[in-house]
Amino acid sequence: MGFSCRVCNSKKIKKILDLGMQPWGNDFIPISEKKKSKLYPLNFVICENCKTCQIDFTIPKERMFVNHSYMSGTTDTLKNHFIDVGKSVLKKTKFSKDDYILDIGGNDGTFLKFFRDNRIKVLNVDSGKEQSAISNSNGINCLNNFFDEPLANKIEQSHNKARVIHGSGIFFHLEELKSVFRGVKSLLKSDGILVAEFIYLPSMIKNLAFDQIYHEHLLYYSLSTLQNLLDEFDLEIFDAQEVPIHGGSCVAFVKHKDFKKNRTDNLRLLIKKEQDEGFLDYKIYINFANKVYLFKKEILNLINKLKNEKKKIYALGAPVKGTTFINFMELNEQKIHCAVEINKHKFDKYYPGTKIPVVDQKTISHPDYYLFLSWNFKDEIISKMNSFVDNGGKFIVPFPKLEII
Ligand SMILES: [Zn+2]
Repeated sequence: MGFSCRVCNSKKIKKILDLGMQPWGNDFIPISEKKKSKLYPLNFVICENCKTCQIDFTIPKERMFVNHSYMSGTTDTLKNHFIDVGKSVLKKTKFSKDDYILDIGGNDGTFLKFFRDNRIKVLNVDSGKEQSAISNSNGINCLNNFFDEPLANKIEQSHNKARVIHGSGIFFHLEELKSVFRGVKSLLKSDGILVAEFIYLPSMIKNLAFDQIYHEHLLYYSLSTLQNLLDEFDLEIFDAQEVPIHGGSCVAFVKHKDFKKNRTDNLRLLIKKEQDEGFLDYKIYINFANKVYLFKKEILNLINKLKNEKKKIYALGAPVKGTTFINFMELNEQKIHCAVEINKHKFDKYYPGTKIPVVDQKTISHPDYYLFLSWNFKDEIISKMNSFVDNGGKFIVPFPKLEII
């Protein structure tokens, strides 16, 4: 037994970073229930054969993606990002009257709105019960299901093949990765485009953003390793863009290998950069891990110092990645009194693995310091907190470099 690579099945796996025993990042348990989160190992590893970074433990997908609280429509930053991606798609392909775009894991339908508003047919597939209900109520037809090869076959029978298939942040979530890609391969028109959005591993490493590592993220791609996986399905990246969303992501545009289309200069440049900067080597990841262990000391020193000065610190936001952060840092309710949120699904629950309560931002007065857990939406959030800033309030921003602002 033992773990084998999710992409190439090799048993040659090297551990990079041990984040300890961690709860499922979205396991927000109501304070009234007095239950404890179950803990699972969280190790960041690399396959020595195909060089794909991944985690070596899988929590069943039914546990993670049927009832969860993530909503795409919560921030303007993400909405605007999706509109930009939508515009890029329209530049690369033409939709005829009967063509449609499929969004895999399309959540509440935020991405597809842009296309529907441009009178293009849309179809959403999402495993989240609440997410697909919201999508449907917004007039974005959504199948409440996990996307895989059998579902792709059913969709092909009812809708024909898709002009464009989009997936944001899902090609690293899916357990049945190969079934998903076989489904994409068969459902995509011969001259169609797959748009894959994912956390960009080189950005994650450069930003030291280890909090992007959590159980829902099974895989961490560079363009080189993604192409490696796509080779198996005769699919090929022809263009890619680095984008700032989620603290550093990549949007890859993919086609069937036998559909002739030139690779863009931008893609060539990005792949060359990955090679030149050493992302196909092991060393860069070991450096990353060492820096993360040092960073832990740095954060704890800072928080202990502020506590000695009797400062009050709240966490700002309760994103899933904050679970990794807080548990790895071993922060508790004595150090962080609470986490404030705007997502009502998380109110009056404990931050997974801790006794730190999550409270409605509107019902509580400001502390001396906010620890920024939703650091990827920093600019948007700070711009909405003028009164706190004007009264001398401070933010501890952990990434891309620890600073107090
Ligand atoms: Zn491998």
